[in-house]
Amino acid sequence: MSAPNKSYDPVEVEALKPQEIERMRDEALAAFAAAADLEALREAKAAHMGDRSPLALANREIGALPPQAKAEAGKRVGMARGAVNKALAARQTELEAERDARVLVEEAVDVTLPHDRVPAGARHPLTTLCERIEDVFVAMGYEVAEGPEVEAEWFNFDALNFEPDHPARAMQDTFFVEGKDKKQESGVVLRTHTSPVQVRSMLDREPPVYVVCPGRVYRTDELDATHTPVFHQVELLAIDEGLTMADLKGTIEHMVRSLFGEGLTTRLRPNYFPFTEPSAELDMECYVCRGESVGNPEKACRTCSSEGWIELGGCGMVNPRVLVAAGIDPEKYSGFAFGFGIERMLMFRHNVEDMRDMVEGDVRFTRPFGMEI
Ligand SMILES: [Zn+2]
Repeated sequence: MSAPNKSYDPVEVEALKPQEIERMRDEALAAFAAAADLEALREAKAAHMGDRSPLALANREIGALPPQAKAEAGKRVGMARGAVNKALAARQTELEAERDARVLVEEAVDVTLPHDRVPAGARHPLTTLCERIEDVFVAMGYEVAEGPEVEAEWFNFDALNFEPDHPARAMQDTFFVEGKDKKQESGVVLRTHTSPVQVRSMLDREPPVYVVCPGRVYRTDELDATHTPVFHQVELLAIDEGLTMADLKGTIEHMVRSLFGEGLTTRLRPNYFPFTEPSAELDMECYVCRGESVGNPEKACRTCSSEGWIELGGCGMVNPRVLVAAGIDPEKYSGFAFGFGIERMLMFRHNVEDMRDMVEGDVRFTRPFGMEI
């Protein structure tokens, strides 16, 4: 080991010679200029500006110099590092601009090109219409009730006051799953309407009862433009003290206005059903022409065939015999019921002309109805 050299001259320290510093600076500048992209520039920066780079090492040598030599060497190295820093920043800006310009070109999306994504589906309009109707009644405090589609004949007919020889029970109208024999109290059918859910709801609950019963029903019809052996109904049942036909009419009018527009009226026409007394057919004012087409050929209306009214469904006050069958005291409680077909409503609400479109599953039919939830 030798003692520190008191006459240490910076010129004699190899790394701090002016030409050495210049060489280091020029090498750094050349490396930055040669860096073709940001990744290469990052590597050049580590090599020429990092902790182990020649300039950093030279800078460290300054500390060992005698005080009189430090200032000059420091200035020289500092200037070189300043120039290298400046060149690096300039090249960095240049390369970033190049990259941005390239990304704009390479990642551009031509929105006019045809796409091959899997097309989005749509919910079936029968489902969405059914849910809309449910929503109207749920908002009024009704509860949604459902029942089995394979139903005891007793629920489907007997409890609803259908006489044993009622024509609706005939094989021509009803799908029988099991006939009635000596051992069995009741046959089994595919339910022909949603009304058995009324009876089930009354047996399940203590009055007051407010239920809306949507569901699939079955009749022995051939599939054609206006018939299908499987279709959907919504049934409404309210049981409470003091209910009258006025409550029935007001309730249905609210539904009609919620689904078809403000200010529409309804009318009742006398009819007969075994499970209601009195019974009526319910018509709503045509929401398209609001009656203006009647007797006015210039304003002919396809929706109501220029009659001004659209038939909605059957309704009435629940027959006291049905209340008794469901264990409810008809002296204390009264109720109203209303049932209608969803397919029919979809037909006049959306101008669907052929019922087969609703069951054939062609997405070209459902897609225009969209994803309404
Ligand atoms: Zn009309």
